[in-house]
Amino acid sequence: MKEIDQLMLANRAWAAEMLAENPDYFNRNVGAQKPVFLWIGCSDSRVAPDQMTQAVPGGLFVHRNIANLVYPDDGNLMAVLHYAVHVLGVENVVICGHYGCGGVQAALDGGADQPIEDWLAHARQVLDDHRDEIDAMPTPEEKVNRLVEVNVRDQLLHLAQTEPVKKAFEADMPLTLHGWVYDLRDGHIKPLMRVTRDTVLAEVPRPERVLV
Ligand SMILES: [Zn+2]
Repeated sequence: MKEIDQLMLANRAWAAEMLAENPDYFNRNVGAQKPVFLWIGCSDSRVAPDQMTQAVPGGLFVHRNIANLVYPDDGNLMAVLHYAVHVLGVENVVICGHYGCGGVQAALDGGADQPIEDWLAHARQVLDDHRDEIDAMPTPEEKVNRLVEVNVRDQLLHLAQTEPVKKAFEADMPLTLHGWVYDLRDGHIKPLMRVTRDTVLAEVPRPERVLV
């Protein structure tokens, strides 16, 4: 059977299973959504935010791109961020990187196809800013994993300086930014750091290593 047919069949089976468990499963979400989290993660197919957190439909507002990068001139992400924080009232924004990220690896290697190479400019900036520590890692695996971690840190700092977040902090809205990494090897999310309106961004240290 073609994979695309399998996808459709799986969808029907899932819908039937959810309805059998709870006849109101779909009806309760038809009117509106009230998610508690905005998730900014990598597009990697192995890193499925709803599954790894057992979120139900309506639980997570999601934005994904290669290497979970935050560009203030990324209209797509800024629209998602504004809508999540200022319309839906989400109080937690997560940036979640992951072990063995192909995008971060490509930034480390250089020479990816366009337009990927241009997209990865922020990740290469992270590499340049933390070159001493990355170069000091003894193995290629540790280099990419450490770059994954410091990339989450730096993207979180970019996030804190975007207009939607600055506006929320200035208005004393209860917004917290979380930096996490996901370990493909054991399925565990590992928290790295948090940023609130009281965080002095210029003094945020490099996070402890969690992926070794
Ligand atoms: Zn990735």
